[in-house]
Amino acid sequence: MMPTLTAHDYAAELNPEQYAAVTTTAAQALVIAGAGSGKTRTLTYRVAWLLEHGVAPWRILLLTFTNKAAREMLERVTALTGADAGQLWSGTFHSIANRLLRRHADRLGYLPGFTIFDSDDQRALMKALVKQFAGKMTKADRFPKPELLLSLHSLAVNTAKDWHQVLSTEYPYLETHEDIIGKIYAEYTARKRSLNVMDFDDLLTNLLRLLQEHADIRRGLQERFLHVLVDEYQDTNTPQDEIVRLLAGGTGSCLMAVGDDAQSIYSWRGANVEHILRFTEQYPQAEVHRITTNYRSLPPILALSNAAISLNENQILKELRAARAGDNFKPAVIPAPDNRTEAAWVARRIDELMGSGIPGKDVAILYRAHFHSMDVQMELTRQHIPFRITSGLRFFEQAHVKDVVAFLRLLCNPRDEIAFRRIVGTFPRVGDATAGRMWAQWLAAYEAWAAAHPGQVALTDPHSKVMEPAVKVSPAIRPPWAAFLSLMDSLHPADHTLLPAELVHAVHAYLVPYLSHAYDNYEERAEDLAQLARNVGQEENLEEFLAQIALLSEVDTPTATDDDCVTLSTIHQAKGLEWKIVFIIFLGEGQFPHRRVIESGSTADIEEETRLFYVAVTRAQDQLYLSFPRYNGRSYDAQFCPPSRFLTTLPPELMQLWGAD
Ligand code: ATP
Ligand code: MG
Repeated sequence: MMPTLTAHDYAAELNPEQYAAVTTTAAQALVIAGAGSGKTRTLTYRVAWLLEHGVAPWRILLLTFTNKAAREMLERVTALTGADAGQLWSGTFHSIANRLLRRHADRLGYLPGFTIFDSDDQRALMKALVKQFAGKMTKADRFPKPELLLSLHSLAVNTAKDWHQVLSTEYPYLETHEDIIGKIYAEYTARKRSLNVMDFDDLLTNLLRLLQEHADIRRGLQERFLHVLVDEYQDTNTPQDEIVRLLAGGTGSCLMAVGDDAQSIYSWRGANVEHILRFTEQYPQAEVHRITTNYRSLPPILALSNAAISLNENQILKELRAARAGDNFKPAVIPAPDNRTEAAWVARRIDELMGSGIPGKDVAILYRAHFHSMDVQMELTRQHIPFRITSGLRFFEQAHVKDVVAFLRLLCNPRDEIAFRRIVGTFPRVGDATAGRMWAQWLAAYEAWAAAHPGQVALTDPHSKVMEPAVKVSPAIRPPWAAFLSLMDSLHPADHTLLPAELVHAVHAYLVPYLSHAYDNYEERAEDLAQLARNVGQEENLEEFLAQIALLSEVDTPTATDDDCVTLSTIHQAKGLEWKIVFIIFLGEGQFPHRRVIESGSTADIEEETRLFYVAVTRAQDQLYLSFPRYNGRSYDAQFCPPSRFLTTLPPELMQLWGAD
């Protein structure tokens, strides 16, 4: 029998404020408190408490900032209570939306088995549309790039505004192109529909529509999820806030949200701190809990954190007291002559710390922008210090992995044009025009087949039988095309006996000649693909696996659970996490805060940078190192880089100055 906690244990492991929140009977509760005060811990214990008080796990919905955070919280719950939390629904808004839409998307007119577009797929489609609608524009017309069109679109969706409005406030110089942009957006939406795909934003807005427009589904979910719990509420966007309101809107529903307005750092993606600030207006009966103790950091780090956030005018004041006491290592400031020296110093210091017995997993290097990590990556490699990187290109975004995944996607969803084009793009001598022609024939053949096989999505007949007569290819393309069809035949025998891992092996084997030719470091890439097959080894359902891949590129990274690995992360992705030792690098004015923000002169934007700095320093438990390069670059075009205002405006007595030699 696993141990269960007694009321006494709860009281012993929580402070009175946390305990009150964990055991509350209020229908709505908000825990608003500073960094490291145990908000996430409160939510974890709340789940344990509910399970121990007879709430069935499937009646709890836990929304977290990353899927990994959710997994860790549930592991903790199981360790605490012995309860099997497996049936509990938990994860990011996007992954929960995916799960619900898998069941109900037909109500919104989607076909079963929709696939998910990641940012690369979105770019590919948007690029094609820009070419189609604005192909004749010249550089002088300054038509926006696909990326910009996508972020404008996404910002409008995530702030629940009309895109025309976002365009006129954020990008007024694009107004001359408004008509064409409108046509592109309309077509973008229509194409996703006909491809039977959703992008990330669609996951949210479709879930919202499902809840708004289908009362039976809404009521069913409200009855099911008695308890809705949300971490990091300060970074919810408008559709998310609305989803929470609807899901937790039943008569017996309970909602608990936790967060810290001082850590709202995703406004550029549509998050709005007002949702947490106005929580009690939205829910007038809500109970509010505040925690004023910080359990994470030693006093000198906390002193600097408190001073950093007090630079902002607009905030709810919450000075934290340190629960921990101990060796008073003041945050160290390290000016380095240039970025290479800075990186070399960081690597050497980490080497010393590791030499004194600190495992790599207790150390993180944090930065404002992904490219800041380049020198550190090189130096760590040079000094043989293992690291994992949670910013930048993620595993599933790498070209060769996407190549393999494209086959699996097309297998599940023959309407997936992007996957199809990616595949034929690997054939020699196939350009855009040929691929387009082949696609049209493929799609027509598939539609005819689908019409004759109602209810089926994936082809149950051999691909060669359906596609060989339909898709006409020139003699030059015939060999790879035939090989492709026979591969698809072998992947999808009518009896469905191949597991996802076997599919990956088969596609990989087929692609070896292409991969080894197309990419210079094939050996490493082959290792990735072997890893991919290992990853899917556990999965039985290919569709589910593909959805997981698409969701992974959201914020999570595959977990390298190596104790020796130092973590490299952007500050944005380090939210909610903690390490014994933290380095914040590139703390130069113009780097952090970002030059664009300084030039904009916007107080709101500067305050968001300050919150970002606050998030960074509050990740540290025992030691904090703040470094900056006086020059960025070493050659004649090196940029002079004064220290960040975060270093110069904070009281000097809170820090100690170190040399970088
Ligand atoms: P953030 O704002 O960064 O998300 P948070 O408020 O969610 O932080 P947690 O991550 O829950 O804080 O807690 C910070 C650390 O303090 C964790 O290591 C946690 O286990 C520890 N902690 C929190 N509350 C207590 C407590 N009552 N007793 C002992 N340790 C605690
Ligand atoms: Mg937290």
